[in-house]
Amino acid sequence: MLIHSKQPHVGTTIFTVMSQLAAETGALNLSQGFPNYNCSPQLIELVNHYMQKGMNQYAPMAGILPLREILAQKTADLYQLNYHPADEITIVSGCTEAIYATMAAIVQSGDEVIVFEPAYDSYVPSIELNGGKPVYITLSPENDFSIDWSLVKSKINERTKALILTTPHNPTGKCLTQEDLNKLADAVKGTNVFIISDEVYEHIIFDERKHLSPAMHPELKERTFLCGSFGKTFHTTGWKLGYCMAPRELSVEFRKTHQWITFASPTPMQYAFADFMKNPDNYLSVRSFYEDKRNKFIKWLSSSRFTLKPAEGSFFQMLSYSNITDEPDYDLAVRWTKEIGVASIPVSVFYQNKNDNKILRFCFAKDDEMLEKAAERLCKL
Ligand code: GLN
Repeated sequence: MLIHSKQPHVGTTIFTVMSQLAAETGALNLSQGFPNYNCSPQLIELVNHYMQKGMNQYAPMAGILPLREILAQKTADLYQLNYHPADEITIVSGCTEAIYATMAAIVQSGDEVIVFEPAYDSYVPSIELNGGKPVYITLSPENDFSIDWSLVKSKINERTKALILTTPHNPTGKCLTQEDLNKLADAVKGTNVFIISDEVYEHIIFDERKHLSPAMHPELKERTFLCGSFGKTFHTTGWKLGYCMAPRELSVEFRKTHQWITFASPTPMQYAFADFMKNPDNYLSVRSFYEDKRNKFIKWLSSSRFTLKPAEGSFFQMLSYSNITDEPDYDLAVRWTKEIGVASIPVSVFYQNKNDNKILRFCFAKDDEMLEKAAERLCKL
């Protein structure tokens, strides 16, 4: 049979490629972003409890109400942002689904979606599979990956359907500021441009920074699909549970596509999170937990020849290696995985033209022993 590929230029994601290579070579895997420690035993007990209780059939399409209620409460308490649990919050199978379902709901053939690169690898395929065209805005280390909002404004035209943002950002760790939000509001004023906001690292944000969602700007909430996740906050990336919060009319369309993608998401985990999140410490404590890891990783790297700017958020630290070698980042990530036994992600993969800024991304969601051992090996380079 001949299959005419809809994604001829797409291979296997870099996360799978590097994790596989790390497994084959026995390297310390600081590539794919996932913790190497377990989630809370209480959370596991809760899932077990609800499984025993028989909560093993389909959840409601939009998610179980108690989980949507606790999310609404958290969002109101932390950000003074109000979403109605009944019709403005939808539980989905991970933020990747939330983003895909949003694109499927809003992007029509020929529509443009503005993407800031380096961009998380699922964004562009989600646009293209739905007939849209990505319009790239390139962020670079020379400008500290900050956004030139006048450039954004100049890219917006009658074909622009949406703009996708990530805060805290993967892979750079950069966080949006109030000034960014103000300029964003100015750029989209009077247009029909939606904002898709990927906020999976909302609780992993450092140095007293406050997480700022575009939805927190009074002029932006009406056009924002706020996409989040439980995986990063609760060390449960394998449970694939996330959500989308958006005003009612937007959520109606979102649910129409979500119901054809996964229909509903795992039931016992939803009940477990609804209980677990009653204690705010269970999601607020992750900030200091990761700030400590970031600081230790940086301290252990202090005698290395890498240069770095401490990540503002997320569980990724970028390291510039131009003092060490000028090899292409992809080749280097592969070589160092094999030769020194530390796997990382080459940042060029997040750029359409594979811009090579000589930067590797390291995930520090790893136990201290692994982080110290990895840093030791990196210091020898
Ligand atoms: N979000 C994780 C990362 O950036 C990985 C997700 C995935 O493997 N698809 O590494």
